[in-house]
Amino acid sequence: MSDSILSQAQFHNEEAAYAYVEARIWPKGAVCPHCGGVERNKLMGGKSTRIGLYKCYDCRKPFSVKMGTIFESSHIPLRLWLQAIFLIASSKKGVSSNQLHRTLGITLKSAWFMSHRIREAMKDGGLDIFGSSGGDVEVDETFIGRDFTKKPRGSKIGRGYEHKNKVFSLIDRNSGKARSVVVDDLKLSTLLPIMQASIDRNARILTDEAGQYTNRYANLSVYFRDHGFVKHMHGEYVSREDKTVHTNTVEGFFSIFKRGMKGVYQHCGHNHLNRYLAEFDFRYNNRKALGVEDEERADNLLLGVKGKRLTYRTIA
Ligand SMILES: [Zn+2]
Repeated sequence: MSDSILSQAQFHNEEAAYAYVEARIWPKGAVCPHCGGVERNKLMGGKSTRIGLYKCYDCRKPFSVKMGTIFESSHIPLRLWLQAIFLIASSKKGVSSNQLHRTLGITLKSAWFMSHRIREAMKDGGLDIFGSSGGDVEVDETFIGRDFTKKPRGSKIGRGYEHKNKVFSLIDRNSGKARSVVVDDLKLSTLLPIMQASIDRNARILTDEAGQYTNRYANLSVYFRDHGFVKHMHGEYVSREDKTVHTNTVEGFFSIFKRGMKGVYQHCGHNHLNRYLAEFDFRYNNRKALGVEDEERADNLLLGVKGKRLTYRTIA
């Protein structure tokens, strides 16, 4: 029988936890977050010194690997952060704050704060461009929960989707990766800048027949190499002329997202929804079918902790 992953030292010993995080965030050795110095950083010794405290002899300031990350100014031991990250990264549907609270033995408030910070670490910078070298990119939108910024509680809601949260997602068919954002409306003037920022102009865009993509003003093939669409209204889910024209991948992504969000999204405001989307994108983009196993997924999550410092103010 192989050893349990959870028996590894970084989950139980604070020094091992620091060493584990440092090896990933500073693969070439400590970097001073104040001045960027890499040459003259020294680990502080002594019994009263905090674990993982360095001093930079270029700018003479102290620092640790937690600085400038989601761990900064958290009183929760780093080994518990690593446990939480592993649990969240290796579970298929995510882990509730309540579960973290019970499993890790921390307060519910700490657990809630921790899980939002970890979701923040799952946000990708949106740096890789979809559909490069002429690939196919599926785009679609879906509605989820109620957008209380538009229609306050107790106000009358009509039919249609005006009062719902709107999610816009892109899927690069070659890499199998997803990127999702919450949008205020579904006008082309809102969606096109998002597409242009994420998609190569040589890509082919695949959509359904929704007006914002297909009306005579839209003309997506001006902005991208080509545009294909299916007519869902006519029961067409794969184009009869070209079998590669469909949006089934992105719709599959939405169904995973909706199943996972069930019971949560009712209470989920705009900002929180963006974080949940980051979590679903992350999970989808690091899924087993793409060859990413649990430990690698947890390490990929850990690499996202940099530059994501958050306070209670920014989360609440
Ligand atoms: Zn420095």
